[in-house]
Amino acid sequence: MHEDSESKSSIGVIGAGIQGVCISLCLIKKGFKVTLIDREDPGKASASYGNAGHFSPYSSVPINRPDILVDVPSMLLSSTGPLALRWNYVPKMIPWFLKFIKNCSKKKMLHTAKYMHQILDLALPAYDELFKDVDVSGLVESKGILYFWTDKDLKSRELEINIRKELGVEQQLLKPHEIHDLEPNIKPVYHGGVLYPSARHARNPKKILLKLFDAFLAQGGNFNKQEVKSISFDENNKPIIKTESNFYKFNKAVISCGAFSKKITDTLGEKIPLETERGYHVHFKGFDNLITRPIIFLNRGFGITPMEQGLRVVGTVEFGGLQNPPSKKRIKNLVDNANYLFPQLKEHYDEWLGFRPTLPDFLPVIGPSKKNKNLFYSFGHHHLGWTLGAISGKIISKLIAEEKTNLDLSPYNSLRFS
Ligand SMILES: Cc1cc2nc3c(=O)[nH]c(=O)nc-3n(C[C@H](O)[C@H](O)[C@H](O)COP(=O)(O)OP(=O)(O)OC[C@H]3O[C@@H](n4cnc5c(N)ncnc54)[C@H](O)[C@@H]3O)c2cc1C
Repeated sequence: MHEDSESKSSIGVIGAGIQGVCISLCLIKKGFKVTLIDREDPGKASASYGNAGHFSPYSSVPINRPDILVDVPSMLLSSTGPLALRWNYVPKMIPWFLKFIKNCSKKKMLHTAKYMHQILDLALPAYDELFKDVDVSGLVESKGILYFWTDKDLKSRELEINIRKELGVEQQLLKPHEIHDLEPNIKPVYHGGVLYPSARHARNPKKILLKLFDAFLAQGGNFNKQEVKSISFDENNKPIIKTESNFYKFNKAVISCGAFSKKITDTLGEKIPLETERGYHVHFKGFDNLITRPIIFLNRGFGITPMEQGLRVVGTVEFGGLQNPPSKKRIKNLVDNANYLFPQLKEHYDEWLGFRPTLPDFLPVIGPSKKNKNLFYSFGHHHLGWTLGAISGKIISKLIAEEKTNLDLSPYNSLRFS
């Protein structure tokens, strides 16, 4: 067994997506001795690599709105819509769906919105703190994010706009000519839209993640490329991380494996109902100059972000677990939708499937494990894990350093599922 316990502040962080990398960097800045463990090289094919790159501090209104269930059948039947099921996985999803339905009351939705807003509001300042030491010039754009819609079938729009207004989120409602002025190349299919001016976008999420990772290494961080199998505890309650080939003992450990975190928490006997919402992207190389900022066509539930790789077309919420192969139908849906808005697009590249980690109340788990005070969790950030990387890193590092966060963290505790 490798003993890292000679230093009383050794921390093992499992998972080098945006969560694990930000947590590790925040911890090392506080003087901890940190080992980051991942089965892959950081940013290889994780959700943190392939997401839409939105930094979305406005996005506090969750999917679990009271009228969502009425919309599900038509969403599933639509050939252009975002929702899909892998039927072989439906029986395994039933417990999650039942918990999700319980969370679709107005009261629960407002609870989620309030506590998503609490951390989303701090998300960009937390990144700015990390970016002081990391050169992200040319990689982060501050041009807002534009949503637009046609008048057909969009009941939720008004409710969302009102909740955001109450939360004090900056939003500019747009008339069709204003959308055209902002993004003249989009086919004018829309009847209205909204611009979130404070939002930013990544020109290349992987490059940003690697810059943060390099900053972690430069400050003395260790990286260990191994698959973690389980965690146990010694007689002093210190975590022992078991990988495919070794055991590592730390003073404290963090699980931040995105949608794969449940595989480890299950070995601890803690039943956290984490599932995955599978999402896809394709690239259209050389077309990124068609738009200035990310756009989202709400009726069809997909988005396009201008990136270094070209236009990244991103979307789909597919319930199908971690093992099912990618769906060609979902890729075709994205390509067709992109061509609908930009008929000039040519061949697409890089068909990618990624796993959003999602809990049934659409709040993440951030905080200590119910099993052991030396084990911490940071996963389940669903559609917003990229935005919430730096703030989760800040919160977890403060909890480990036993510093005050001045936040109400109880809504993110895994105990809520007990
Ligand atoms: C299509 C799509 C679009 C998205 N768009 C956005 C967006 O625009 N804005 C936004 O804020 N969020 C977005 N998201 C969500 C966001 O990408 C995720 O919430 C976030 O990346 C999750 O980060 P993570 O670090 O928790 O997990 P991941 O990025 O999935 O990283 C987990 C890491 O853990 C490692 N790992 C897993 N199991 C083990 C193990 N047993 N041992 C060792 N290592 C292990 C994996 O190799 C991986 O590197 C999107 C997601 C998808 C799929």
